[in-house]
Amino acid sequence: MKLILLGAPGAGKGTVAKLLTKLDGSVQISTGDILRGAVRAKTDLGKEAEGYMNRGDLVPDSLIMGIMEHRLQEDDCKGGFLLDGFPRTIPQAEELTQLLTKLGIKLDMVANIDVPRDVIFDRLCTRRTCENPDCQAIYNTKSNPTKVEGICDACGSPAVQRADETEEAIGHRLDTYNEKTAPLASFYEKQGLLETIVGTSSDIVVNAIKKKLGI
Ligand code: ADP
Ligand code: ZN
Repeated sequence: MKLILLGAPGAGKGTVAKLLTKLDGSVQISTGDILRGAVRAKTDLGKEAEGYMNRGDLVPDSLIMGIMEHRLQEDDCKGGFLLDGFPRTIPQAEELTQLLTKLGIKLDMVANIDVPRDVIFDRLCTRRTCENPDCQAIYNTKSNPTKVEGICDACGSPAVQRADETEEAIGHRLDTYNEKTAPLASFYEKQGLLETIVGTSSDIVVNAIKKKLGI
């Protein structure tokens, strides 16, 4: 499948993407994960992106398009992909349309995961992420706590709050989403690709996507 997952930070795009990859071997492409990897590796890209990310601001479109143009041409994308966290602005979406046309790729659907803001805010404030880049397990201090506080059940590394998951940065990320990313819904609606799914459980969202794709 060739999908875009649209939805606010904390809507569950990453979780849904991971479940969908198990269905048909499509790959998850998360621009957030790629950027965090670059920050950890202290590459030029990482050094440029880090400040924006920690403040909860978007990284400039030109940096993101450079990453995605390269990524979408890698071999593993031939079997399908799930774009998680990209595109995030109208200019990114317009450039993506051009890029996909150039590569001869047609999207199946843009799944817009719609979760109420208060649910999201609460989720993000209580989210904990395993620091180990090869694990990245996600926990929640309320609904899915680690067995030992602050330690990942799966691999024993620290499970921490992300630098951009302070209340202030979260509020800013949600405002940025409403201003810059939410307009993508009507952009894709006009292309006849949009399916909005209201749901706070990732299983419900996955089932709705499967049904719409006929799989
Ligand atoms: P979330 O969806 O939970 O906010 P992500 O992991 O998708 O988190 O992104 C983390 C940060 O990485 C964003 O706040 C932003 O700074 C940057 N980022 C990720 N994807 C993009 C993108 N497509 N365009 C601009 N910035 C991005
Ligand atoms: Zn772990």
